[in-house]
Amino acid sequence: MDSLEKIVSLAKRRGFVYPGSEIYGGLKGTWDYGPLGTELKFNLKQEWWKYMVSRRENIFGLNASVLMNPKVWEASGHTEAFTDPLVECKVCHERFRADNESDIKEHESRHKGKKVQWTEPKKFNLLVEAKLGAVEGEKSTVYLRGEITQGVHVNFKNVLDSMHPKIPFGIAQIGKAFRNEITPGNFIFRSREFEQMELQYYIKPDEKEARKVFEYWKKERMNWYVGLGMNKKRLRFRQHEPDERAHYAKDAWDIEYETPFGWKECEGIHHRGDWDLSRHSEYSGMDLSYFDEESKERFIPWVIETSAGVERPLLCFLLDAYSEEDNRVVLKLHPRLAPYKVAVFPLLANKPELVKLAQSVHGELKEEFTVAWDARGNIGKRYYAQDEIGTPYCITVDFDSLEDKAVTVRDRDTMKQKRVKIGELAEYLKNYLGMTYN
Ligand code: ATP
Repeated sequence: MDSLEKIVSLAKRRGFVYPGSEIYGGLKGTWDYGPLGTELKFNLKQEWWKYMVSRRENIFGLNASVLMNPKVWEASGHTEAFTDPLVECKVCHERFRADNESDIKEHESRHKGKKVQWTEPKKFNLLVEAKLGAVEGEKSTVYLRGEITQGVHVNFKNVLDSMHPKIPFGIAQIGKAFRNEITPGNFIFRSREFEQMELQYYIKPDEKEARKVFEYWKKERMNWYVGLGMNKKRLRFRQHEPDERAHYAKDAWDIEYETPFGWKECEGIHHRGDWDLSRHSEYSGMDLSYFDEESKERFIPWVIETSAGVERPLLCFLLDAYSEEDNRVVLKLHPRLAPYKVAVFPLLANKPELVKLAQSVHGELKEEFTVAWDARGNIGKRYYAQDEIGTPYCITVDFDSLEDKAVTVRDRDTMKQKRVKIGELAEYLKNYLGMTYN
């Protein structure tokens, strides 16, 4: 089993990620998040929000509708240019992205020896269509948003008028996006429904300013991954070739992660110029310019965008955290990402006095942390089970605890144990979990 297969199996078995609609045979490119996956996803999004929005003065949050007036997608260029090149194998009619060399090669090798003929690449639009309306025959076609970006740009004027921000400023959003991917795959890496976390940062239309801001956000975004414990050696920047860039981009860099299936884009940083606001001004007839009080100039701002998925970075964090040591599997997730921060056990489940004290410790800690409870099997098995899901600390209430009002705290990574007074536990954990944000 390679490490991706191991993660897929662990994710299913331990309640991180299940195949979507599994009891009906599934639906390709969709995944459901179980109890632990939901916590992990929530923590990831919260870390992004804290880092990108809460700590900063000039970044505003937004939560736009998934369904939008179809004109939005005409203006943004998506109905015309949001395409991938599609080729079909003439032998078995399976379809692939023409620019995905490894998939194409793998497919050719499946037709051992036979000469595989491919159709000419044709443009395949990734927007997912839906029908909206209550009257049959009068339903209108809308698109499920293919990127969350446009919800921000169409609200640019609303944010200007309600918040009066001074340029440079940003609007951040987290939300679902949908793409009719030709070949979803590699577990949750490429799915048809996923979430994105994006910042649209509005600046003066000036190339020197754009370069400076672009470099700033590149660094910030890389720091975010490294700060959450991702191995620097598995991360790199890659600039897009001019013919590779999306239709809106003047410059584009990816933050790539080294997965078992190669170096892959985890997040993109894009110089969108004035593409979005100019096009929406033109198509909507609304003035989406900005008046700069200082220079007394009116202009359409430029946009530097940082665009990450949620599930794709989540997979990278899982791959990065997975390790096998001696007789255990450990998910060395950063404590701020770990689904449970701590687990509490009574040493023996059949001793009511131990269970009672353990329950009270559990109850107190639950006020501040996500806490697991386990009273099954022996301590060794419980440690194994918590290591595998990345719980940074395990707390055992034993017979001495009844006397000394202290418990054993065991560290996931070092496996070292320490005696800590029950009254000091919450403070101790907070310090060691790195829960305070600098
Ligand atoms: P790719 O080249 O892999 O198709 P992209 O360049 O189209 O990706 P962007 O449009 O820049 O991706 O989207 C920004 C981010 O959204 C990506 O870096 C990725 O993390 C996430 N993302 C995009 N498409 C998917 C998908 N199908 N499944 C999961 N996450 C995705």
